[in-house]
Amino acid sequence: MNSVLPWHNSLWQQVLRRYQQDRLPHALLLCGPSGMGKALFAQALAETLLCENPQAQGQACGHCKSCSLQHAGTHPDFLQVQPAEAGKQIAVDQIRDLIQFYALSTQYGRYKIVILNPAEAMNRNSANSLLKLLEEPPPKTLIMLVSHQPMRLLATIISRCQRLDFSRPERKLTEAWLQQQLKDSAPIPLLLNLSAQAPLAALALVETEALAKRQELFKNLAALPTGRSDPISIANGWSKWDVRQVLEWMFSWTMDIIRYALTGQVQFFVNYDHQEVLQRLAQQFNVQALFDLLNLQKEAYQLVSGKANINSQGLLESIAITWVELSLQHRR
Ligand SMILES: [Zn+2]
Repeated sequence: MNSVLPWHNSLWQQVLRRYQQDRLPHALLLCGPSGMGKALFAQALAETLLCENPQAQGQACGHCKSCSLQHAGTHPDFLQVQPAEAGKQIAVDQIRDLIQFYALSTQYGRYKIVILNPAEAMNRNSANSLLKLLEEPPPKTLIMLVSHQPMRLLATIISRCQRLDFSRPERKLTEAWLQQQLKDSAPIPLLLNLSAQAPLAALALVETEALAKRQELFKNLAALPTGRSDPISIANGWSKWDVRQVLEWMFSWTMDIIRYALTGQVQFFVNYDHQEVLQRLAQQFNVQALFDLLNLQKEAYQLVSGKANINSQGLLESIAITWVELSLQHRR
């Protein structure tokens, strides 16, 4: 997927125009929700700037020496900076390596390019160290900071970058694109609902086992209030999955139940494939208890998203037990 994605077109043209006019800044900040393809955009731009023979529309040729090195991940004028492990920080040593990389002159005489992703993974030391570089950027260099949460970046860093905002594309455009990528049988509206309309996140739901996990989770949740399943062993199963994803789905399901309990309208269901079960649960449960459950899930999400080591199994157990208790509270 090396070509420019349809919803990137106008940003791509904008950046390319600046490049052709020799007005490209030294630092770009690519912001927007996850699943919009910001990193792919950065990669495509790096390939174009390093390509010896870019195409008329600005895409890299894909065949020259530079393109081959890029595809092999060994281009000496290109550096990718990311946490050593997903969810970890970008350490100050990595920024020092970046500064050293910039200190050497280009080997192919074009640009020296860095993609740093996600930028919010930098700790304070890393960010301060990067800031010095941004204040005095060497010529013919470009750093692209990719950020899903630019609010977490230092204001001084943001102010040194030219910002590119990746907003959610129109639904029609995304549906048409997903239609091309997926088989006819794929539930595209559901995928978009579950991924907050972010096209690559929607695609990833199909390409991974995520949808099957989601089915299993909902079966578990629907069974809990019947009292016929053990919340502790169920929570134990969940703790082996991507816990943040589990919590997001629970949250979305609980929201659907609350929304239906309050409005009686079926057209607002995000999880419309579980409509019947959700309607039944909405009639059984006490709305206040559902709000309490929602808050519990939200707090758990914040805890597992934080830095500290969290006992996620304990959190999931207390949520599972609360789901069981919902059925006891409904008669109040
Ligand atoms: Zn090329």
